[in-house]
Amino acid sequence: MKTILAATISFLLFYSAASAQDQRATLLNERLIYYSAYHHQGVPWYYLAAVDQFERNIQPLRQDIEKKESPLALTIPDERWFGPLHPDTSNLSPYFIKFFGGIGQDMNGDGKADPTDPEDIFGSMADYINSYSSFKEALKAYYERKESVSQILTIAELYQNFNTLDLYKHVFPLHKDYLYSYRSTWGGKRGWGGRRMHEGTDLFAGYGTPVLATTFGKIEALGWNDYGGWRVGLRDIHNVYHYYAHLSGFKKGLKQGDIVKAGDLLGYVGSSGYGKEGTSGKFPPHLHYGMYIDNGKNQWAYDPYPSLKRWESS
Ligand SMILES: [Zn+2]
Repeated sequence: MKTILAATISFLLFYSAASAQDQRATLLNERLIYYSAYHHQGVPWYYLAAVDQFERNIQPLRQDIEKKESPLALTIPDERWFGPLHPDTSNLSPYFIKFFGGIGQDMNGDGKADPTDPEDIFGSMADYINSYSSFKEALKAYYERKESVSQILTIAELYQNFNTLDLYKHVFPLHKDYLYSYRSTWGGKRGWGGRRMHEGTDLFAGYGTPVLATTFGKIEALGWNDYGGWRVGLRDIHNVYHYYAHLSGFKKGLKQGDIVKAGDLLGYVGSSGYGKEGTSGKFPPHLHYGMYIDNGKNQWAYDPYPSLKRWESS
């Protein structure tokens, strides 16, 4: 008895001492088991992982959906699970559910299509995806929103490309060997192009200072816009769009659709923008950094300053 107790205590001590990184690795492995179960039916793990991650991203940002505290986030709404006309959501008979056009199925053989059971949830989602000609078509039918479909496809592409769920690393956007300075500039007024609120942080640095990817992401936009000048936008696995503006130029060959990892070179600090293509020098060189988050209904800007501070010191 004493030995068991001692072993338990030493295990607990060991466990609490395990780094946050180890705990995340354990959690990600646990998730991967559920995502990987339908590979042989032609649904790769990164499809289910992307849908689950998207649901995890939106739950804390929404009042109208439940926030799941479990390792797996995906919840299939009653209307979809049971079918819109199902008279009784306490009846988990897979036959009834199918009859009423619900997508809920019994995947673990306990006779119930249980909307709270992870095997039933992921199996049903895998089957749903399989019933469409492509992952994209399935997402269009399920989410009925172009931006959500595009965000989930990006998450899937990132997981597939790096072959891991562990894409949490973040990096400060300026190369730290160069001089720079910044302070919180959220919400200040901006003159050019009408009255606008300043949606970002300005990081002042010399022309040519290397600008780096702050996250694993996909290049969603790259090119000129009249406010931002030469600008690039990165979409990550957290429904966040990272916006870099006023560059002097891009890394050679970089293009829309490219996948980058945290720390990769994107371009160089400049002073482009506030006019037609090629306009430059209307203000001191700096990187304008913006962050936008999508909750599955709409997207809005939030203050990047706290994130920048965190990445700078990590
Ligand atoms: Zn700015």
